[in-house]
Amino acid sequence: MKSSTETLEDISVPEAQACILDRIAPLDAEEVKLAQALGRALAEEVRANRDLPPYDVSAMDGYAVRAADLIEIPRTLQIIEDIKAGDTPRHPLQPGQCARIMTGAPLPPGADTIVRVEDTHALENDQVEFPVPIKPATDVRLRGENMRRGDVVLQPSDEITPGTIGVLATVKQAVVKVVRKPRVAILSNGDELEALDDPLDPHKIPDSNSHALMAQVQALGIEPVLLGIARDKPDELTDFLRRGLEYDVLLISGGTSVGVHDHVRPTLTALGVAIHFWRVKMRPGHPVAFGTLGRTLVFCLPGNPVSSMVCFEQLVLPALRRLMGHRRLFRRTIPALLGQAVKSRQGRTEFIRATLSRDESGVYVVTPTASQSSGDVLSMTQADVLLVAPSELSELSTGKTVQVQIQETAVWQLSPDT
Ligand code: AMP
Ligand code: MG
Repeated sequence: MKSSTETLEDISVPEAQACILDRIAPLDAEEVKLAQALGRALAEEVRANRDLPPYDVSAMDGYAVRAADLIEIPRTLQIIEDIKAGDTPRHPLQPGQCARIMTGAPLPPGADTIVRVEDTHALENDQVEFPVPIKPATDVRLRGENMRRGDVVLQPSDEITPGTIGVLATVKQAVVKVVRKPRVAILSNGDELEALDDPLDPHKIPDSNSHALMAQVQALGIEPVLLGIARDKPDELTDFLRRGLEYDVLLISGGTSVGVHDHVRPTLTALGVAIHFWRVKMRPGHPVAFGTLGRTLVFCLPGNPVSSMVCFEQLVLPALRRLMGHRRLFRRTIPALLGQAVKSRQGRTEFIRATLSRDESGVYVVTPTASQSSGDVLSMTQADVLLVAPSELSELSTGKTVQVQIQETAVWQLSPDT
């Protein structure tokens, strides 16, 4: 991990991401109950504790037969036994015999094939007719076909999805070792800010950033702590920042620019925080800064509501995901056709709020939202993707293929595809 104290200025988004990620390793491991493990990253290798299936089993409800008995069809066989899942077959099959068998039930000795109920005719006196030709070994799931005792079934860093939980339960892992979650503190900064429970004052600006950032953190499965609002006074700010620096990650919004009331960066420096970069060639979000004190990560996000959220998406989110031990750190991007021409500023990567739809042929089309003002908190509710306008281009024409970053809401659609 890097530990230089030089402050880089005006770097690109990928440079900023690399600068952050180079300084982060996953946090240590902790043990949690299976019910608490969803969304976490595994911190251990998990092995199968038995063969699955534990013996050759039927994949269908039907009849266990000897394929050699059904070379000539139609053929009638005698049912000698009923076998359910969990039963132990009592009788080996002799020529001319079959067993009625349920899905997941073990094959009796001598049987090598399953014939589905639908392909048979039940007769009287426990006899059954097989009119359809069969292939040997059909619909048999072999012992150990899914996992063999001792096989590695999950790796460290695997993300715990509902599917993973199913595997962990299968191998009877009631307690799992996962990477611990970072402790995250959020601080807003500015004399003009009004807290959520303050009485409404028409001259003030409601502190939305604390809450929007909190929700962005919660969406990753982390419960952050809101430190409140620090006024633009160095002493007060120092007290708040000292408290914030006790966490794994401190997110500060506002006061990071060059105004005479912007005290955040100098106050952090005075507290010993090394500022690794300030200003990233992106829009919105240019005046963003990143620093560290020991293992604590400090992100100074711009005060404008949209800038703070977009900077979180590009810079904080991958950092939190790495701390949590995940391998996939970035939002999924997909190509989409531009539904409307877009002008952007050359030299900065622009993250344009946009909506995603599909045209008649099913191709994704992306359309910027009406407002691109970084102070317009409402525009974030209309955007379900961020259109990434590369820094080297200043104009993107209609119909051009662009990359869009999928936001939380964009994984849902109104109706199913038919
Ligand atoms: P600053 O980065 O402090 O210069 O703030 C830029 C703009 O963002 C100003 O209009 C601030 O009023 C606004 N702003 C700063 N902090 C917040 C916040 N926590 N919630 C909403 N708006 C904010
Ligand atoms: Mg301010």
